[in-house]
Amino acid sequence: MDYTFNTTLAAPATGSYHELYEIASLNPKLSFLEKLWWTHYAYWDNDIIATGIITFLAHEILYFSRCIPWIIADAFPNLFHRFKIQDTKAPPSAREQWNCVKYILAIHFIVELPLIVLFHPMMEFFGLQYSLPFPNLKTLAIQTVIFFFVEDTYHYWLHRAFHWGPLYRAVHRVHHQYAAPFGLTAEYASPWETMLLGFGTIGPPLVLGWCTGEVHLMTVLVWVALRQFQAIDAHSGYDFPWSLRRIFPLWGGSDWHDDHHRYFRGNYSSSFKHWDVLMGTVAGPRGKKMKKSE
Ligand SMILES: [Zn+2]
Ligand SMILES: [Zn+2]
Repeated sequence: MDYTFNTTLAAPATGSYHELYEIASLNPKLSFLEKLWWTHYAYWDNDIIATGIITFLAHEILYFSRCIPWIIADAFPNLFHRFKIQDTKAPPSAREQWNCVKYILAIHFIVELPLIVLFHPMMEFFGLQYSLPFPNLKTLAIQTVIFFFVEDTYHYWLHRAFHWGPLYRAVHRVHHQYAAPFGLTAEYASPWETMLLGFGTIGPPLVLGWCTGEVHLMTVLVWVALRQFQAIDAHSGYDFPWSLRRIFPLWGGSDWHDDHHRYFRGNYSSSFKHWDVLMGTVAGPRGKKMKKSE
């Protein structure tokens, strides 16, 4: 990393996290998160390892912690059953959830970890930044919205292709093991699906970085975190009165993706509804109603 962003910090000396954090604190321009970021890269003194640790840990911690509220909701049907979308189905058993956790951990370690290690060299090749300062909030927000729309488009067409017989059997069948999904099933997919759909998440920042030179790793981390949250919520099986789709009608949410698992065809997009509405692929009775009213 470029340690010369500020005037008071020279190239890092070796030391403990705490000692390095003290050095970072000498620069009043750095925010708390920026100090941690500088400390982390200085401590490891190997940018590939430092980026790999941040991205892998962020992925694991955010994925499983975002699943916890849904595990709790399934554990207390008396309180939460009335918000369940497929309310005639029993909530997933502890055994089912545990099997899902084991499978996802295997995918994360065997498929995603090697790709995460490769991410730093790829990021440098495509001209993404990871030095300080962090991007401003406006840039971060605009780029994240762009990534959401580009990923949704990519996801719609690839996911629709996955439902073609041979591709379904070879790639996508694993993800449809659960007709009534729950939070943990968001990344329950074959290794091929993980890699092919994952490109829709990682590809847009790399392409935008290549074109503009203005994409920062922090923006990528925020985008991937929000995309993870979107996927977990879409598989949660619960639709609350405060769900995002009720505030923002273009947003699909769990109400949308649950129908994909339930009726098997239609609602192929990830975050939004527009592609399915435009292409006439809305799932279930809702889709039939739309076709009749045309
Ligand atoms: Zn599908
Ligand atoms: Zn799904």
